[in-house]
Amino acid sequence: MTLTNKIFLSLVSGIVIGSLLNNFATEASQFLLDPIDVIGVLFISALKMLIVPVVFFSIVSGVTNLEDTTSLGRIGGKSIFLYLFTTFIAISFALIVASIINPGENANFVLEKDFKINSPPPITSVIENLIPKNPVKAFSEGNMLQIIVFAIIVGITITKMQISQKVKLKGVFTSLNDLFLKMIDIIMFFAPIGVFFLILKTFMTQGFSTILELASYFFTVLLVLIIHFFLTYGSLLFLLTKVRLVYFYSKMKNAILFAFSTASSAATIPVTLKTVEEELKVGKSVASFSVPLGATINMDGTAIMQGVATIFIANAYGINLEISDFISVIMVATMASIGTAGVPGVGLIMLAMVLNQVGLPSEGIALIIGIDRLLDMTRTAVNVTGDAAISCVVASSEKKINYNYKE
Ligand code: ASP
Repeated sequence: MTLTNKIFLSLVSGIVIGSLLNNFATEASQFLLDPIDVIGVLFISALKMLIVPVVFFSIVSGVTNLEDTTSLGRIGGKSIFLYLFTTFIAISFALIVASIINPGENANFVLEKDFKINSPPPITSVIENLIPKNPVKAFSEGNMLQIIVFAIIVGITITKMQISQKVKLKGVFTSLNDLFLKMIDIIMFFAPIGVFFLILKTFMTQGFSTILELASYFFTVLLVLIIHFFLTYGSLLFLLTKVRLVYFYSKMKNAILFAFSTASSAATIPVTLKTVEEELKVGKSVASFSVPLGATINMDGTAIMQGVATIFIANAYGINLEISDFISVIMVATMASIGTAGVPGVGLIMLAMVLNQVGLPSEGIALIIGIDRLLDMTRTAVNVTGDAAISCVVASSEKKINYNYKE
């Protein structure tokens, strides 16, 4: 059995067993929760352990392999533009579809009172903090944008050094990069176990009953996620690259399964990067940069949830939204995605900002929090697919993609 099939099987078993325990063995579930959690946490920690070294070493070796470092600015500009553009499309789709379906209309919800949520960082502070004052702190905190900037500076500096030193340093960074890529293989080997326990815990604590209460919201988000997943990414790949669509989606399976199980695009970076470089054959100079950048600033799935949630909450409170509110939602949701890292549940924090902007009470988030984990898993899979699709588009425009696939 291939690794992907094994992971898929664990995922399905986790869903089935977790839901059964949730429904029929509530007390046993409580007792089992802690040991199950330990294994899931170990697996997530192993993935997280790799994020910083994989990102750092692959960007440095990607940059040192560029014949022309001025192309970096171009690659960065294209990636950022496309990431924001697809987020804009995603949230626009969400608002249009949700306005038609109108989830939450005629609903009668009880609102929880003691509900607090943090606010995301303002965009100016994200820009001010792009250059790390202390790179060690950036590494220890896993501050992705700062690590990217620092790695690019290290990479460019290496290219400016004397030839003998340059060759030596290039070799060191390439070997370290290979070391951590190899480590991903080892962790992937344990993925079927890790995924099983992560999903088991989620379904033991969530169950399906909450979905039914919020079915209109849940299925509207799901519908728009599916539309965006196939239509937006499919069209971009079809129009702007020569990647075969069936090939793309089938090669993304591992990254999608990881994203789904961990609900974190940041924790999935090692797998996404490996898929984009080794399977989709995007050149390291593009992938090493666009994938971690995407995991931080590209959250199309999250934007979709925000669009639908805004309309749902407005309906639940009986508040009418104007066209100008829709425009505010689009702007704020697109910008909010830039400063927030791809970790579980961060979409709700961004949603608070969107709701504030259009004068909706952020307590409304309490309405949807019960089913957020399930949607988080699904939208993270979309976020990660977006990172890979845009990496292919940028690489194709830079002629840094190889279409000689081996099946
Ligand atoms: N969990 C998502 C991600 O990592 C972000 C979110 O929607 O909460 O991409």
